[in-house]
Amino acid sequence: MNAVLRPDTPQMAHQPLDSRGRPLRDLRLSVIEACNFRCGYCMPADRVPEGYGLDAASRLNFDQIETLVRGFARVGVSKLRVTGGEPLLRKRLPALIARLARIEGIDDLAMTTNASLLAPHAQALRDAGLGRLTISLDALEPARFAQMSGGRGQVERVLEGIAAAEAAGFSAMKVNCVVQRGVNEDQVLPLVAHFRGSGHVLRFIEYMDVGSCNGWQRGQVVDSDSLRARIHAQWPLQDLPSQYTGEVASRHGFIDGQGEIGFVSSVTHAFCGDCHRARVSADGHLYTCLFASTGTDLRPALAHGEARFTAHLADLWSARADRYSELRNEQRSARRGKPVEMFLIGG
Ligand code: SAM
Ligand code: SF4
Ligand code: SF4
Repeated sequence: MNAVLRPDTPQMAHQPLDSRGRPLRDLRLSVIEACNFRCGYCMPADRVPEGYGLDAASRLNFDQIETLVRGFARVGVSKLRVTGGEPLLRKRLPALIARLARIEGIDDLAMTTNASLLAPHAQALRDAGLGRLTISLDALEPARFAQMSGGRGQVERVLEGIAAAEAAGFSAMKVNCVVQRGVNEDQVLPLVAHFRGSGHVLRFIEYMDVGSCNGWQRGQVVDSDSLRARIHAQWPLQDLPSQYTGEVASRHGFIDGQGEIGFVSSVTHAFCGDCHRARVSADGHLYTCLFASTGTDLRPALAHGEARFTAHLADLWSARADRYSELRNEQRSARRGKPVEMFLIGG
């Protein structure tokens, strides 16, 4: 396989384009497959047993992760998002963050977390070089929040985590809310009221048909357009331009100057054309689409060192043709194999 190459910078090796001309810019790296929550849309408690994913031996170690990220940086990745499962369950996470923050070419280092364990770790993560935080929060009402976390979470802990992160110097955090019809639609306006003017950016995510254990149905999706109209009726909004090519969320500013919100509309507005993202599971498998069924084990190539790994990665990316969201209606019925679960590749 021959990678289509873009002009190299001195530090960079091959910077391949995939078969649809898309470069690789963005890596979502799962550091753990376990989670302390059981959100029904991701890891339902009746499908994923207690204690799932606690086999540390199958995970990439920090040396492997560092080599892997160096390789990704050499093929063009500049944005790295650490995720899970719940990344704060990974032991010595700040030490890993410190290693990743030093890698040449990575100029945006972020993490997605449910924030229930964030408060005691926020300062250490900031000191280690973590640049940005995205926090998942589906409800403010305590009973609803607890129910949506599979009976495991308390909203107070998440709000404490956000406060601790602010005190540690994280600003303009993203707060993600997955909206499900009949489950938490009524939490949307209270969440907007809570975060308006805070400097953080609340983003509503359409419930996606990722994996197979959540039992997704199209009727459970709340379209971003209708949600925007509901919010606009109370707090008028204006569309804002995207900040960079391939930005996942559309941006909408409050006309009264109280900040902005976003919508991630993978179901109703496919954005595959600009998709520059790769995902790696905690056990070192590459997924070139959120909706893939099979991953490629990167560990054999990693064992040959950074240079060989980088060349292998360039070949893998150049063969990529994914555009599931654009073809959702045809592909859902034709899907072969079991699609990978969100908690394995981190969103
Ligand atoms: N545990 C961390 C958390 O919840 O932030 C990180 C991993 S979680 C898989 C990453 C993101 O995926 C979360 O914001 C979560 O809400 C989102 N997510 C999970 N399943 C989803 C689904 N079926 N549709 C849309 N978003 C989903
Ligand atoms: Fe855990 Fe995040 Fe999935 Fe919820 S969305 S079950 S917090 S991995
Ligand atoms: Fe990217 Fe796949 Fe999502 Fe399309 S469906 S935007 S290719 S991850």
